Amino acid sequence: MKMYICTECEKIFNQPNTITERHGLTEPPYETIDVSPCCQSAFAETWECGYCGDYIAGDYIVVDDVKFCECCYQVKNVLN
Ligand SMILES: [Zn+2]
Ligand SMILES: [Zn+2]
Repeated sequence: MKMYICTECEKIFNQPNTITERHGLTEPPYETIDVSPCCQSAFAETWECGYCGDYIAGDYIVVDDVKFCECCYQVKNVLN
């Protein structure tokens, strides 16, 4: 399942907050921006690691449509 991770504090969430950036305008259309609900900052998509079940904060490797975090991928490679 796809989740999101805050790039500031690495908190995991499933639904970004949408905020309205008015740019000083008094009438619509206003720009809407998706931000993290924890600290209103940028976020990235994240997925559960197919090996350890943790959400992957950094790079991941995809094997047969399953995503693995880098450390698990190395462990898995050693085991195989
Ligand atoms: Zn945050
Ligand atoms: Zn893992």
